[in-house]
Amino acid sequence: MPRRTLDSLVTEVAAELMGVDSATMVSATEQVLAMLIDYFDVDFSYLRHNDPKNRSTVLVAEWPPRQDVPEPDPLKIVYFDQADSVFKSLEHATEPFLIPASAADYQQTIHSASGLGDISSAAVPLVSRGRSTGLLGFVKVGDRDWSTRELNVLKAIATLFAQLQARVEAEEKLRFIALHDDLTGLANRRALLEHMEQRLQAGSPGPVAAFFLDLDRLKALNDFLGHTAGDKFIRTLSERLRDNLDPNDMIARLGGDEFVIVPAKPMDTVAAEHEATRIQELISRRVTVGGESVSRGASVGVAVGIPGETTVADVLRRADHALLSAKSGGGNGVALFTDAMRAQFELQDDVELNLRSAVSDGSLILHYQPEVDLRTGRIVAMEALVRWMHPTRGLLPPGAFVTVAEATNLAGELGRWVLRTACAQFAQWRRQGLAANMVMRINVSPVQLVSLDFVERIEDILRHFGIDGSSICLEITEHVVVQDLARTQVTLRGLKRMGVQIAIDDFGTGYSSLSHLKALPVDAVKIDRGFVQRLGASTDDLAIVKSIIGLAGSFGLGVVGEGVETPVAARTLVGLGCYRAQGFLIARPLPADEVGEHLALGRIPLNLDLPRTGRGPAAP
Ligand code: C2E
Ligand code: CA
Ligand code: CA
Repeated sequence: MPRRTLDSLVTEVAAELMGVDSATMVSATEQVLAMLIDYFDVDFSYLRHNDPKNRSTVLVAEWPPRQDVPEPDPLKIVYFDQADSVFKSLEHATEPFLIPASAADYQQTIHSASGLGDISSAAVPLVSRGRSTGLLGFVKVGDRDWSTRELNVLKAIATLFAQLQARVEAEEKLRFIALHDDLTGLANRRALLEHMEQRLQAGSPGPVAAFFLDLDRLKALNDFLGHTAGDKFIRTLSERLRDNLDPNDMIARLGGDEFVIVPAKPMDTVAAEHEATRIQELISRRVTVGGESVSRGASVGVAVGIPGETTVADVLRRADHALLSAKSGGGNGVALFTDAMRAQFELQDDVELNLRSAVSDGSLILHYQPEVDLRTGRIVAMEALVRWMHPTRGLLPPGAFVTVAEATNLAGELGRWVLRTACAQFAQWRRQGLAANMVMRINVSPVQLVSLDFVERIEDILRHFGIDGSSICLEITEHVVVQDLARTQVTLRGLKRMGVQIAIDDFGTGYSSLSHLKALPVDAVKIDRGFVQRLGASTDDLAIVKSIIGLAGSFGLGVVGEGVETPVAARTLVGLGCYRAQGFLIARPLPADEVGEHLALGRIPLNLDLPRTGRGPAAP
């Protein structure tokens, strides 16, 4: 290597600092400092940055590293106010200056920290836009003369350091913006994910708790007090969180009124629930915005992850799930992710994984539940109910997989399979002369109803099996009706043109009002089994069933009672003029061949002991 000259030194330092960023700044600076003390034959050197916000100077790097640095390091952060006279004057200095051994108090600061003996120093300010932003310092045991040329070279090098400082600050600012939420200055989603990724790495201390926070009814606050007030409310709560949590806790805002907190301390579920409760109370306290004192309850979902075992996505999903359960419990509370929720998740994953192949490999089956005229026992309809013969979990009811199918784009496929299979069975029964005056009822999921080609598909299937539209009844739930009335109307009208019947399922549990019913071409309602089951035991339910039957009558709609489990429920329905019913008392859902036996008879004998007035004219 050619011998260094004073001129080549600047070039070398520039080369050394060229590709440096915030991650490599300290080590690169150390290398340069080592080069400089070697060249200038001094004993110690350091680089400091000013922190104008806190009016302090912060040690960035030093060379050689001091031995036995006390804790806290007196040289790490020096506040200008409390500093010795030399450090004080350095706050605004822009020209290099030499500090002889006689500047006793400064030499005292460095001396006691560095352990060097009788020393002299040279201090070269970093200058950016005419202002001092830091300091490059050299310490020599004994005296040293610095030539003007040498000092000029050091000024050039200090400028290089000032440029690096500006670059790193800009980089950090960008990083801050990228990782923080605008409104509150809290971490954002990206920062949260990065943080959790690190915390859940194998070998990190655990368990790692995560709290999913959500303010109850924040929307109402925005609506009534305006968005500025809503923003202020969120900012105030954020400050409150910052002030009352460990500074090392991760507090992130995911937008809206959603926050996630990851405590720095490892916590098991018991400790986590405790801490979550504390936070929940903190958030629920009142806040003054726009002259009004308001409070919003908060719900908190708690989940705990094990480093190396649980993924970030899993922990967040669990906390979110627990949050949902906290909210559905009325809000303003804390809920823990439970084993039951875990089982539900596992089932969901499993369903997601296996349902698609189930549709094609024959492990889906339909059971059929008869609907009878209570007065005669005659079978008037048959409802197709899907089941899944799961390879390891046994026979699954639709409740275990239909919603998953709907959430994962499989509802269409599942629905088509059900339609085709039910119609094929229906056609077969008819060929056997078993189902002449019977309607086939098929449940339709909301997702199917809004698919554009639904009407055509039904038409194809009916044509294929030679079934007329009017012997089919599609059952839809109230929710779909309420959610997308316009779209539903179009589809239902298309179905009506083919004569297909439509019934509203689970009637009484949703929000359909009279106006909805009037707006839709509906033929019948099925009273939700929840009301029917307790007929005879609950007068409330009796009143509801009565009013549903009255309502259906006034609209000219058919009415079916489902969930008939007791003779008293059946008798009550008949007494109220609702003759069509379905339920375990009459028959459970059965495989096609077993229900075929009922069909062969045409009726299911019931022993209801009905009063004579309740009997229809057709009773045998
Ligand atoms: P749903 O349409 O209300 O079907 C009636 C449900 O009540 C059936 O449950 C049936 O077994 C049950 N049930 C019948 N009688 C009684 C009774 O007397 N007491 C009691 N406690 N329950 C009775 P299942 O088969 O588990 O079906 C549950 C739900 O899954 C159905 O409710 C329906 O909404 C949905 N579902 C079933 N099959 C399909 C399908 O092919 N497609 C779609 N989209 N949903 C389906
Ligand atoms: Ca149904
Ligand atoms: Ca129902």
